[in-house]
Amino acid sequence: LEMRIKQLEGSTTRRFPDVKFLNYRTRKRILITGGAGFVGSHLVDQLMMEGHEVIVVDNFFTGRKRNVEHWIGHENFELIHHDIVNPLFIEVDEIYHLASPASPQHYMFNPVKTIKTNTVGTINMLGLAKRVGARVLIASTSEVYGDPEVHPQPETYWGHVNPIGPRACYDEGKRVSESLSYAYAKQEKVQVRVARIFNTYGPRMHMNDGRVVSNFILQALRNEPITIYGHGEQTRSFQYVSDLVEGLVSLMASNYSMPVNLGNPVEYAIKDFAIKIRDLVGGNSHLIYSDAVEDDPQRRRPNITVARKQLNWQPKVSLQQGLKRTIDFFHKELLRSSHSNRN
Ligand code: NAD
Ligand code: UDP
Ligand code: UDP
Repeated sequence: LEMRIKQLEGSTTRRFPDVKFLNYRTRKRILITGGAGFVGSHLVDQLMMEGHEVIVVDNFFTGRKRNVEHWIGHENFELIHHDIVNPLFIEVDEIYHLASPASPQHYMFNPVKTIKTNTVGTINMLGLAKRVGARVLIASTSEVYGDPEVHPQPETYWGHVNPIGPRACYDEGKRVSESLSYAYAKQEKVQVRVARIFNTYGPRMHMNDGRVVSNFILQALRNEPITIYGHGEQTRSFQYVSDLVEGLVSLMASNYSMPVNLGNPVEYAIKDFAIKIRDLVGGNSHLIYSDAVEDDPQRRRPNITVARKQLNWQPKVSLQQGLKRTIDFFHKELLRSSHSNRN
């Protein structure tokens, strides 16, 4: 029997990357809500490698176990299936609150749930932070600026959001999330950090979330026409996920408690972005123009003066490098899905 147990143990022993060893004084217990999602799973990797204890809470609406499966079984890692709209009682030192659908297609799928997650869910995380004395970082968004009249957008700009439009569930949800954070900071002395995240891309992003990076890469890889909504003169600025993760970790560690823009200030018109992706993929897709989408912000580019000064942070990964890695990921995912369809 002993031998059999040894055999079984041998066959189930997982090999993990070598994480840093931290003693009990420096090691933190860190909760990441939405940690099975795109950004959250990269943050998990970073904090695990730094030697912390990481607890992921996710309801798997848009996240996947696959994004964090390489840590399952590691003694510093825990994955909890839980919806943050319901209270959560655990003991932690820091909370990265990322749970919320992020792509327009996902957040518009169930707008009421999106609002609940960003309001009731955020109250629960702030209530938890208050009870255990944890510092909490809220993942806000450039969407709090709406369709901006000020360009590029500094943190001092109050925004231009339609409160009843199709994006309102997300934009207003995140605005309330920010208001809640500062109300808890003022009234309950909770330590809050607020990251206003601009468009982010990279491996593990959703293939079918209808966003511009995923749509254009898939279309180019399949040699299908690239669909531009409206005239394509609208702009976005794209940051690679590893740059964002560095910014989030620096913000959590800093003494600066006001909102901070985290994004890449290099701005592209959507039609130029389409050409860039087509050229990198190397196919011969042509561009087609369809109707503009409702309330589509026309310009978006972060002013990152605050992040530079307060966090000594700025993006490092060029669009070219980041897109190559992302295209490679999509290519592998396509092969994987065609392989599993054949089986
Ligand atoms: P994502 O959809 O990949 O991840 C969100 C995660 O939250 C998913 O794992 C999902 O299952 C989980 N989740 C959603 N509702 C939940 C709930 N009620 N309870 C528990 N878990 C829940 O999105 P992402 O791109 O990784 O975004 C992460 C955060 O960053 C979000 O808060 C998003 O608003 C913010 N953000 C992202 C971007 C971007 O470009 N990706 C831009 C601005 C802001
Ligand atoms: N909460 C939670 N976990 C905790 C502490 C609080 O989920 O560890 C929830 C709690 O259920 C409440 C919310 O956070 O609904 C806000 O907590 P707070 O203490 O601010 O409010 P109160 O409980 O007084 O309504
Ligand atoms: N877009 C596009 N074609 C697509 C998907 C998106 O032209 O197939 C445009 C969209 O209209 C918007 C920009 O690309 O102007 C970014 O859209 P996305 O949904 O990625 O994110 P947003 O920044 O609007 O939240």
